[in-house]
Amino acid sequence: MAYYLKYRPQKISDLDIKEVSSALGEILAAKDVPHAFLFVGPKGTGKTSAARIVAKAVNCTAKRGNPPAGGEPCNKCEACLSLSRGNALDLIEIDAASNRGIDDIRDLREKIRLAPANLSKKVYIIDEAHMLTKEAFNALLKTLEEPPEHAVFVLCTTQAEKIPGTIASRCWQVNFRKANLEEIIRALTRVVKGEKLKISLNDLRLIAKQAGGSFRDAVKILEQLAAAGKKISSAKVGEVLKTKLMGEELDDWLVLVYQKEVNKALEWLRKAGEQGIDVKQLAINLVERLRQVLFLRLGVEEEASDIDELKDKDEVKKLLALLAAAAEKIKGAVIESLPLELAVVEWSASAKASEDKGGNPSPPSPEPDLKTKSGKLSLKAVEDRWDEVLKALRPHNHSLEALLRATKPTGFDGKNLVLEVFYRFHKERLEIARYRELVETVASKVLKSPVGVRYYLSEKGKKSNDDDIIKTAQEVFGGR
Ligand SMILES: [Zn+2]
Repeated sequence: MAYYLKYRPQKISDLDIKEVSSALGEILAAKDVPHAFLFVGPKGTGKTSAARIVAKAVNCTAKRGNPPAGGEPCNKCEACLSLSRGNALDLIEIDAASNRGIDDIRDLREKIRLAPANLSKKVYIIDEAHMLTKEAFNALLKTLEEPPEHAVFVLCTTQAEKIPGTIASRCWQVNFRKANLEEIIRALTRVVKGEKLKISLNDLRLIAKQAGGSFRDAVKILEQLAAAGKKISSAKVGEVLKTKLMGEELDDWLVLVYQKEVNKALEWLRKAGEQGIDVKQLAINLVERLRQVLFLRLGVEEEASDIDELKDKDEVKKLLALLAAAAEKIKGAVIESLPLELAVVEWSASAKASEDKGGNPSPPSPEPDLKTKSGKLSLKAVEDRWDEVLKALRPHNHSLEALLRATKPTGFDGKNLVLEVFYRFHKERLEIARYRELVETVASKVLKSPVGVRYYLSEKGKKSNDDDIIKTAQEVFGGR
């Protein structure tokens, strides 16, 4: 089991954010426990863990007879144990972000009247509560107006402002915040003790810093380190942290690339290189992170934090494929960072190409698309087999294939193929004689007909004030 789940807090005093633990301790020790809670705060700060502790505290049977201090659950009675094991029928977790969640809320009004199966209280945890539809909020409101004695609600959200006032005013609100260093170290120490790890306090502090206020991220780094052995040296910590570029920094770069900020994305890579970052590891981290985002979009992943800017599922998928392919090429690349850099440029160019398709009418074709005379190839036939040409080219020259992928066949007269190029710099590279010959040879072979290639710069490419991109790219690729 992942450390984050294995060492999730089991009692109120385990909650590492001080205000949260004291506020919950007070209210859960009181005679009248509220019917509804609203937990507000960033991801990875322990809201769901706290919600489960509430479920235990209101159901703990030991507590009723002989109340432990501060409303703590005993974690020993059958009620506590079934909640720890996660098989308590009376704990209902609803993810408002999924369609299922909306159906669940619809069901809720009917089922809420039914008494709990085994425990004294039914507890409903509604995660991402701000995602509920208006209709679902209305159903929930009706329930909260007259809550049955045996029900407790815990609404968790990262965006409190999206919870209607009518709902929020009926809830007892607890604010979660990003954890500070001491609190994260405390959480890490629980794992260190439990797993019998050997690591210095100073190294724990470095990990905590890197995690940017998220318990989940911090525990994940520790878990990664522990995978290589219980004894964790400072050297190893330094190495992993250097290559890790956790959380926000990695996310920043993905946002830059996604938004086609080519200059900034390349600059970021250059700086990472200067800091001695292991490019291969960096690429793996980027791919892993993007994969998480894709899984979030598909509704498969739940634990990972999201990157809101990366909205479109299909775009994320495309970018992921591009970066994964780049990561594979790093080993054996002349310049280690080159495959990633090319991927950035290629992504931007392909995105521009698809914009063109959607928006303006297609760019003027400099060569008329001549009808096939008998036996001659049509543009359509070339387009259909273009991917084969690229694949055949790959073993000869990776970079050339990547550059060519960022172009678009726009005309073919049966002999000369015209390709639209989106950057001046690309065009210059492609026109180098030996490259042109290689492309022609491979294309002729695959298409089984002699083919010449001609490149022309797109209107956008001509007008573009992307001189900086070109300059940066020239520096990157050596400008030969
Ligand atoms: Zn108990």
